[in-house]
Amino acid sequence: MFWLIVGAVIVVVVLFKLGVFRHPDECRDCGKALKGTEQKVFKAGGFCLCKNCASKIHPQIINYAKENWSYSDYTDYLTWEETTKEERAQFDPDVVYGNQLAIDTERNLFRFGSNGDDNIVLRFADLTDYDLNFKPEEYKEGILGDKVKGNEYVSVELSCPRVCLESVINYGVKLKVKQKGIISNKYTYNLSDGFADAIRAFSVCYYLQLKIDTYNQMCRDVDEVDKALALYMFDSMDEVTPSTLEEHKNLLMKAFDQNEEKSNGLYLEKIDNAYNLLASMI
Ligand SMILES: [Zn+2]
Repeated sequence: MFWLIVGAVIVVVVLFKLGVFRHPDECRDCGKALKGTEQKVFKAGGFCLCKNCASKIHPQIINYAKENWSYSDYTDYLTWEETTKEERAQFDPDVVYGNQLAIDTERNLFRFGSNGDDNIVLRFADLTDYDLNFKPEEYKEGILGDKVKGNEYVSVELSCPRVCLESVINYGVKLKVKQKGIISNKYTYNLSDGFADAIRAFSVCYYLQLKIDTYNQMCRDVDEVDKALALYMFDSMDEVTPSTLEEHKNLLMKAFDQNEEKSNGLYLEKIDNAYNLLASMI
């Protein structure tokens, strides 16, 4: 009798381990019962999707989604995908940097990453933060002048699809050191021309878009000077000189000209007001 009970317990434990008693997971979206291998687990949100429903998420963002999304992030994404599909299909980049970064400054769209055309087309309207820069890694002294070696990268944060993505655009870029402090180790260098152009186009699109959608809302509590600095792409008043101010204004006006639909006077007025304010503080 004892061995019979022990045997029965062992059988139950083995069956339990095999998942026989476990209620099969269901796809949260379509309700399909899922076997172990075909379910896509979304850890943070504590739900599963079947292969088919998970494939609605763009491959570039699926890994981020699996680690970070709640179920409502997923449904928000599906709505976003559907409602912005046509707009994003118009993507026709006018600023392209290698095959890694492409910007459509007219439609305020961009795409980045190593998969070129297969990357997801995103909207500046959904961008909440970004960093597009060169990260120095190695300093090299040379007879023909010192160089700094590093990587050009981009990282973006969007409200929808809710993601933070990062990509190195170019590895092992060598830039000529312009100036080096004699005592301190600080040095300056110029970014490569193509990359500098891409950064300018990207930031102009970002700030112009910010103005349309969230400018007033977002800046309600921020004082006028900060708004003006943001519009003119300055981090602080330290960067504002008559020549940089003029240069940034030209960039804004250039971007403004490309956006005819936005030519409603509002922009010109804001660009002018901000200019006058900053100029008065130099
Ligand atoms: Zn499903």
